Amino acid sequence: MRIVGAEFTRSCVAPEQFPPDRGIEFAIVGRSNVGKSSLINRLVQQKGLAHVSRTPGKTQAVNFFDLRTNDRALSPFRLVDLPGYGYARVSKALRAQWGPLIQRYLCERRSLACVLFLIDARGSEPTDVATFEWLRSLKLPVIVVMTKSDKLGRGERRACEETVRETFLLTEADPVIQWSSVTGEGRDRLWQAIREAVRT
Ligand code: GDP
Repeated sequence: MRIVGAEFTRSCVAPEQFPPDRGIEFAIVGRSNVGKSSLINRLVQQKGLAHVSRTPGKTQAVNFFDLRTNDRALSPFRLVDLPGYGYARVSKALRAQWGPLIQRYLCERRSLACVLFLIDARGSEPTDVATFEWLRSLKLPVIVVMTKSDKLGRGERRACEETVRETFLLTEADPVIQWSSVTGEGRDRLWQAIREAVRT
């Protein structure tokens, strides 16, 4: 599969601003600073497409990216970057605004095919577990992506993946992908998992 084009579509702070609910969307959910922007840039192979922020919690909007591929099953296809959670330094008012916005998107969006759920390969936090349980309760298909795998050795990765599978009560059939935006590890596997999620 080849990506023919990718562009930033729109940044939304209210559901009314979401683009028309058509096509196939994959949402990206994870803690602030877990590597969401970096994953988008690497997945699409376009540096700077999603702004890689060095200040955690800066992205408070729902950002839509339109992708054109030569795979007919994935046309049209959008990546949707949801605001990161769990960053304490963001004001109370902003946090109050996040919840409803994310909830509206995840609960009502018909185009939403699957969630890419990002956790740091070195370990999850209670907020990750709570968010994952919420996604499951919404009956959304989820692909777990362990980011920043390059920070771990082979043995450590295997151990951390085992822990994640136990913590999140995953079965062998649930995809867990070791990912590094630095080395590009996991890119082929993630595209494959995306295609499989669209087919099922
Ligand atoms: P976001 O807040 O979830 O969008 O996270 P960013 O993509 O902005 O990344 C947060 C920080 O983690 C940045 O300093 C990135 O350079 C770094 N980072 C992101 N992905 C990786 C990765 O796969 N490996 C390593 N070593 N660092 C990463």
